[in-house]
Amino acid sequence: MSTSLIAMGVAIFLVINLVVGLAALSLLFGTFETLFGKPKLTLLRSTKSGNFFAFGFKWNSAKEPAAIDTIKLRLFNPFGSPTQVEVLQSFPAKQSSFAIEANMGPGFIDLLGAQNIDYGMIQVEVSSSKDGISFQFDMKGPKFKKLVSEANQTVEQFISANKLDAPRTSKPPIDIPIRSFVADTVPGRGPQLKLATNPTFAGDFTPAPTSTGGAGGAPADATPNFGIAKVWIEPGCIVCNACEDIYKDVFEVLADTCIIRPNAPLDDGLRIQEAAEACPVEVIKFTKAS
Ligand code: SF4
Repeated sequence: MSTSLIAMGVAIFLVINLVVGLAALSLLFGTFETLFGKPKLTLLRSTKSGNFFAFGFKWNSAKEPAAIDTIKLRLFNPFGSPTQVEVLQSFPAKQSSFAIEANMGPGFIDLLGAQNIDYGMIQVEVSSSKDGISFQFDMKGPKFKKLVSEANQTVEQFISANKLDAPRTSKPPIDIPIRSFVADTVPGRGPQLKLATNPTFAGDFTPAPTSTGGAGGAPADATPNFGIAKVWIEPGCIVCNACEDIYKDVFEVLADTCIIRPNAPLDDGLRIQEAAEACPVEVIKFTKAS
């Protein structure tokens, strides 16, 4: 056998070894990624109005199966203004890695426009309301704003680059913004709500004032009733019907929101307060009559 044939054989052997080695390494890293890859959030460029937050989320759905359906953004800004903003949005559940644009409502503008955010922190939470699983990503305020403003990949590009399932177009991917509040935190709640319908607190509430102004024979230490000057619904109603079940003379739940009925009676403040406290997204607001 000539020397050149031997050299060619050795070269072919080395090339085959190299190709097999590279394939093995690729498989190995792919396996590492599948087994140990951390959930990853990518901020994307929104193609819609300023209320929209575009992001991609990748996680190992084989290892941690979940129906992801909620995105929540929280700003903690103790030295700035506002000191706190929280916005959340639900969307059709995703069983595997995905990317969407979610309408976070006007609170998202408050969050991005917060003053003195240098010491603020943004927490992005991607969660499953059904499975009780959540993934949190914390970043400093300036970094979050930079990532949002400098993002150049759109949702479609992210989906295509990562070979993800494209979102269905037959259904809108987002709903109405659910909650936005500024400044003070939501007051803590005990294990039980002090509602007139809770038997634990039976007798602690007086009925609405009667036409003669009496308190209907309620105990002397009962919570006094009061009149309402104004009651209204802020954006974000999720049409759960709780308020109408409690006080249907005042609240009417329509297909996509709740309204206050025209000429609604406003003399039973306790009952309106009860409906407001029962509202899961706290969009029922009222002022007491002076
Ligand atoms: S309780 Fe709140 S969320 Fe539910 S229907 Fe009434 S306003 Fe809407």
